Amino acid sequence: MTQAAVPLPATPELRIPIREILPWAVFIGVLALVVLYFVSTEQGALALFSNGYVHEFVHDGRHLLAFPCH
Ligand SMILES: [Zn+2]
Repeated sequence: MTQAAVPLPATPELRIPIREILPWAVFIGVLALVVLYFVSTEQGALALFSNGYVHEFVHDGRHLLAFPCH
């Protein structure tokens, strides 16, 4: 007893549009680096803003991520 092979339905070709994603990936990467700078380094002599508001705003995140603070 033989059974005929049932052909599988054709699956659509999956393509990842790298050229469309790349500018957004670079933008998100730069944005992440800016946020990482403010969380990790914005204090003391390296501070861009002298009033300390940015440092206090991200202070809990700094301790959460184990960056040295005080
Ligand atoms: Zn602290």
